[in-house]
Amino acid sequence: MTHNKMTKMFVATCLLALNYIGAVFAESTAPRPNILVILTDDQGYADVSFNGSPDIHTPSLDKLAEDGAIFTSAYVVHPFCGPSRAGLMTGRYPHKFGSQFNLPSSNASGGLGIPKSETFISTVLQDAGYYTGAIGKWHLGETSEYHPNNRGFDEFYGFLNGGHSFFPEEFSKRYEHGKKQGRHHSIWHYHKPLEHNGKEVVETEYVTDGLTREANKFISKAAENKQQPFFLYLAYNAPHTPLEAKQEDMDMFPNIKDEKRKTYAGMVYAVDRGVKDIVKNLKATGQFDNTLIVFFSDNGGRPDKGANNYPLKEGKGSVQEGGYRTPMFMHWPDALKGSTQYKHPISALDLYPTFAALAGAEVPKHKKLDGKDIWSALQKGVSARPGEPIYVMRHHNDNSDVAIRIDDLKAIKTKEGGWRVYDVQKDPAEKNNLRDKYQVQLQEMIANFEVWSWTNVEPLFFHDQKAGYEWRANGMPRFHETFKRD
Ligand code: CA
Repeated sequence: MTHNKMTKMFVATCLLALNYIGAVFAESTAPRPNILVILTDDQGYADVSFNGSPDIHTPSLDKLAEDGAIFTSAYVVHPFCGPSRAGLMTGRYPHKFGSQFNLPSSNASGGLGIPKSETFISTVLQDAGYYTGAIGKWHLGETSEYHPNNRGFDEFYGFLNGGHSFFPEEFSKRYEHGKKQGRHHSIWHYHKPLEHNGKEVVETEYVTDGLTREANKFISKAAENKQQPFFLYLAYNAPHTPLEAKQEDMDMFPNIKDEKRKTYAGMVYAVDRGVKDIVKNLKATGQFDNTLIVFFSDNGGRPDKGANNYPLKEGKGSVQEGGYRTPMFMHWPDALKGSTQYKHPISALDLYPTFAALAGAEVPKHKKLDGKDIWSALQKGVSARPGEPIYVMRHHNDNSDVAIRIDDLKAIKTKEGGWRVYDVQKDPAEKNNLRDKYQVQLQEMIANFEVWSWTNVEPLFFHDQKAGYEWRANGMPRFHETFKRD
């Protein structure tokens, strides 16, 4: 080949490549969105005013909800913390990778965590060029291999356990006292110092305010680097127990007389104040319009600790609607038209594929996601998962509470009674058992659920020794009882 010919071929190849690159850019001229997940802990369905709370007002959350899409049938993956968060991060039911219980608390964790075979959404977004941060409660493993910094998060500020006290002047005093007694390993983890990327820090603010401050630091830092969109997972531990609120926040609710409810309301209000600051910062840094904000709670509220799940039945821990249907909205001025009420069921499992698609990120090939990319259905206002089940399964020491929802119908079985069927779209309070009317559908749903249970694996951990012992002593999970045709 002559030199001239080679040059021509080289030029042609370069032009082809340029054309190709041009085409790729032309297809995606809109910048990828920032993604901000604001997760609260144990917040009840009726504990935001955009869902009609009679006594708690959440003006900042309401403004975002009303300018975005409010989801009235949004389900989390499990009615309590650990498995719910594991489902959110992995996009899969935790029963499929042995994470159907909470991790044991730090003093006895034994170096356990959510299996590394599960790629978190944070890793997928990080690999796609996102700047990623986790702030607040983790609860997915504490040793180095399970630490947020090793699970796709560039930044972590918060605590690795399942909860924390809120006033530093109180918890640091108790921590120091415990240390003086030589009890470093048995100090309650709610009293231990917070950390930043593995290093202990001295938090001086009410914890909810401290988490807001760190979220704003992260957002400002992200704004300095315009080349990289951000993914921020802001997991407030409010309004989870201990019930501890600032006086000024409780004073916002002079009409609430019940002390627990008043404190709880103050804790929710601190989150709302935080969201107000975050919105202000997003606007100041020019990022508000292209940030997808997703707000929800990790599970239902505890009425015995000041929460209200009205009109839903029961609360945290239950497979009735109050346990795992939570308040939720999405907000994104550039792409989502305001005042949308989305009534079709969605699952927190849907966030993984939805985020990955919006970010143009590649999901690992071996990964079998349990959720759906809901984006185009949301924009059209149609169901994102017609005919697709949403399962919930909570194990007790000698039975499993289970429920399956397909479209408007939900079949449920708990220790208190056999299978019942509700139209939870019309009857979210689960008052009117329609079993007689939907006998055929019920049998199909039970069969569907049993096939799903074949994908479950033995738990890899339990929240304490007693739970693990009882699981084995009682021959759990005893699915032959759960899914017996009846
Ligand atoms: Ca929780």
